[in-house]
Amino acid sequence: MSHFSITMPSGESWEPKFVQNINEETCIGCGRCFKVCPRGVLELVGLNDEGERVHISDEDDEDEEYEKKVMTIAHQEMCIGCTACSKICPKKCYTHAPATV
Ligand code: SF4
Ligand code: SF4
Repeated sequence: MSHFSITMPSGESWEPKFVQNINEETCIGCGRCFKVCPRGVLELVGLNDEGERVHISDEDDEDEEYEKKVMTIAHQEMCIGCTACSKICPKKCYTHAPATV
């Protein structure tokens, strides 16, 4: 088995690293990663006091039943392995890995 890579027009090899995990403990829900992801992989959700994920409505009012917001991987299969999310994250929440072929 080897890692999936592509050959760039320049002839150089590039190995994409795909999103594996976002650390809920360190994530502050700032949304920076969501803004840079070009593939709609990520989704901001609420975490309630039992650690369950709850949907965040567009009308973010004070009655929402969550303790904090965290970023989650909603569509992992859409990731192209650019690692832009990881580079912009101020809390180093991301784990990425190459794909094996
Ligand atoms: S690696 Fe790129 S495509 Fe994948 S989740 Fe991060 S920003 Fe989106
Ligand atoms: S950039 Fe980092 S801290 Fe901000 S929402 Fe994304 S994972 Fe969380």
